[in-house]
Amino acid sequence: LKEKFNVPIFIENDATVAGLAENIIGVTKDKRNSLFITIGTGIGGGIIIDNKVYSGSHGVGSEIGHMIVGENFYPCNCGNNGCLETFASSTAAIKFARKLIEEGNEDTIILSKINNNLENLDTKIIFDSAKLGDSLANKVVDRMVKYLSIGIVNLINIIDPEIIAIGGGVSKAGDFLLNKIKDEIPQYILNKKIGYGDIVFAELGNDAGIVGAAMLCNHR
Ligand SMILES: [Zn+2]
Repeated sequence: LKEKFNVPIFIENDATVAGLAENIIGVTKDKRNSLFITIGTGIGGGIIIDNKVYSGSHGVGSEIGHMIVGENFYPCNCGNNGCLETFASSTAAIKFARKLIEEGNEDTIILSKINNNLENLDTKIIFDSAKLGDSLANKVVDRMVKYLSIGIVNLINIIDPEIIAIGGGVSKAGDFLLNKIKDEIPQYILNKKIGYGDIVFAELGNDAGIVGAAMLCNHR
């Protein structure tokens, strides 16, 4: 591309540029150090330090989704076991819900919502069922919240950002999810007396990646 168009070409992953877009015109605007975490079928991350994208010495840093946070019942696509995205992505929630349903130890309203067909299972159904007080659905949500909070606190303890923005499909679960994360996080925080960055939802939605990519040349 560089030769063909005779312009500098920058390459960043989509979560990183989305994080940059949030920092320029979105919810982390005016914050020097921020984190962006996108939660969908996987988990991606953008680390902004001094209003610039941080992607490490080899350009492959900020892989928040592959931070190892435990031991899981199935391996990650990357080959490791215990990556954050195998505990806290929508794929992870569906796999865990499916496991609990197949074990058959408790009734759940999820079964009627999916017409007894596990192929119909999605995170919206899991969250809607959890909001209605379904015990199995809440187990799935609580596990997701626990590991997501551990992952976020690991980042808080290391980077100490001013703000952490959560985007991606899972953020559609709204304050039900956000409040649970906010309740879970304090117990893991190292410097409890000092305070830590606020956790909010991202603002820009699906366009963030495109906006951020366009802005990349000025902010690296
Ligand atoms: Zn992984």
